[in-house]
Amino acid sequence: MSRSVLVTGGNRGIGLAIARELAEAGDNVAITYRSGEPPEGLFGVRCDITDTAQVDAAFKEVEEHQGPVEVLVANAGMNKDQLLALMSEDDFSSVLDTNLTGSFRVAKRAVRGMMRKRSGRIVLISSVVGLLGSGGQANYAASKAGLVGFARSLSRELGSRDITVNVVAPGFITTDMTDELPEDRQNEIKKNVPLGRFGAPEDIARTVGFLAGPGGSYITGAVIPVDGGLGMGH
Ligand code: NDP
Repeated sequence: MSRSVLVTGGNRGIGLAIARELAEAGDNVAITYRSGEPPEGLFGVRCDITDTAQVDAAFKEVEEHQGPVEVLVANAGMNKDQLLALMSEDDFSSVLDTNLTGSFRVAKRAVRGMMRKRSGRIVLISSVVGLLGSGGQANYAASKAGLVGFARSLSRELGSRDITVNVVAPGFITTDMTDELPEDRQNEIKKNVPLGRFGAPEDIARTVGFLAGPGGSYITGAVIPVDGGLGMGH
């Protein structure tokens, strides 16, 4: 396969592992990054997904470099954890604007070319807490749950064009995001994970690779947990 792939937030963490996985499978992979330098061997475009003009400019750069995006992985995301009583409106809306509206911005821009081509793959990176809930993460969980309704609606809108839209819901994965958690909190979480450990970014990357590859051709509107069993039943 040598398709045009775009992974948002592909400069580090889960996004970087996804980008490397798809590049190793033979795809032309571009990633978005906000600051610093793009990782070795990947085509990087600077983009803040909260800015529609930057999203459009990034897509234009990718299209010029490797053609219209055929596989989109909306991975970029952030958290601003706080108990509801202490959460500012900005803490809430900025997380929604990045995680949910940011995915809307990139998906909307990507489907233009996919509809024309009558094929495409979209994978949205949600989280186990989207369906499980998490105290202190009402903003983050709401944004990640929103991705499920968003993906399922898109899968109905776009299925007739052979565009699949799926959600991957990671559990706790070792990245900068989870490194911020204090060690006692990390140990507490591990006790609730049937597999007893955090996952690696590559665990998510392989699942995205499957959904984006031939194995995913008849899967759409699905929410695939990759969480060591933490969210089972949801
Ligand atoms: P990291 O914090 O390591 O990386 C986040 C990535 O998102 C970075 O590339 C960052 O770019 C990018 N990003 C954040 N905000 C924006 C923005 N406004 N515009 C463009 N890019 C942005 O996170 P992870 O790798 O851990 O997480 C990746 C995804 O997986 C996120 O959506 C996260 O919510 C989700 N997830 C992670 C879990 C985990 O346990 N780690 C569990 C469940 C879900 P930059 O480097 O420029 O800041």
